[in-house]
Amino acid sequence: MRRNIYDSQCAAKINLRKILQRIVDKEPPERAETDGGLYVGASGISYAFLRLAEHNLLKAETDKHLSLAEHYLRSSLAMVQRHGTRSGTGFLLGDWGILAVGAVLATVQGDEKTASEFVKRYIATGVRCKEVNFLKCGSDEFFVGRAGYLYGALWLNHTMKKVVVPLDTMHEIARTIVVSGQMYARVHNSPCPLMYAYYGTEYLGAAHGLCAILQVLIQVPSFLDNNADINSTVRTCVDYLLSLQMTSGNFPCAMDEIDCSGRSLRDNDNELVHWCHGAPGVIYMMAAAYLRWKDQRYLNSCILTGDLVWRKGLLRKGPGICHGVAGNGYVFLLLFRLTGDELHLYRAAKFADFMNSPQFQSDARIPDSPYSLYEGIAGTACFLADLIEPDKAYFPFQDVF
Ligand SMILES: [Zn+2]
Repeated sequence: MRRNIYDSQCAAKINLRKILQRIVDKEPPERAETDGGLYVGASGISYAFLRLAEHNLLKAETDKHLSLAEHYLRSSLAMVQRHGTRSGTGFLLGDWGILAVGAVLATVQGDEKTASEFVKRYIATGVRCKEVNFLKCGSDEFFVGRAGYLYGALWLNHTMKKVVVPLDTMHEIARTIVVSGQMYARVHNSPCPLMYAYYGTEYLGAAHGLCAILQVLIQVPSFLDNNADINSTVRTCVDYLLSLQMTSGNFPCAMDEIDCSGRSLRDNDNELVHWCHGAPGVIYMMAAAYLRWKDQRYLNSCILTGDLVWRKGLLRKGPGICHGVAGNGYVFLLLFRLTGDELHLYRAAKFADFMNSPQFQSDARIPDSPYSLYEGIAGTACFLADLIEPDKAYFPFQDVF
């Protein structure tokens, strides 16, 4: 098994370089789409180059990758500047994500002044999300809502190696998430004490749903430690989600897809095994819950997800991390870090090999944004880089360790 992993890592090193070159050739910075934020826009490609600039394998090319990160971010930052005081909100989709990448990039380049301006703006525009219903579509999820703001703040504080977004601010926003979820759950008679909707659907997965919201509440430093009631509410919600895990290991996508006994109404053929919808996204919340409460049931849930993804995770939907093979491969990198069991690393390696197979290259669908961070190969590049250094692997913005 070790030999197999080693061979796949060697292949990944070659493919990683090819992918980075393909991004630059096919989607050069001046042509890359500004819209779509970190999710499918140029700023997401910038994030990938910024992350790879620090990779041990690519040390000789750090300056080149930082320069590419800067170029890919330029048009997005110009757009945020044009917004001026009307700067928008939104992390995976919106100005917050662009500002966060700008701040980290400026820090890495030694430009503290610019970094601090971007952080100030991140904090100033964050004030808007302290209002419970600041967005009509749903104010709490990851892409445009408060959870995204907190993921960005966690990432900023971690990568800038100091507290730049104050914990008080993060706690206030986390409390707003709890209040919002309690209000919604009460009005809609939800079986879960915190519930949220995005465009009218009560999603459960990572993209717009409950699990990513719970995960960030668990991860905001000292938030649950300082609030015993909220700690117990969040744990009840985690247990509720756990009760929805099917024997296959998957989770329903949304509350309107389960019957009154909590069973999924979606048939097997249409099952979604994606980061955005399904167990491959819920696993990060379960892992965070396991690390906090050390409850073996949460770790078992993660392992069950791993087995599901091994059976059903080789998607035809492309190589991306949102609903593609790299996103599912990340499940194994997480499990390897959680358990130290090389079986998971082997599985991650096989998923990487699969993306290199003629079958995948001829049959897989080309995503709408083929070079982007979440749908395209910029995310695949992060996955391959993490396969090469699995002890440091983490899904973008969702490091639970
Ligand atoms: Zn997706």
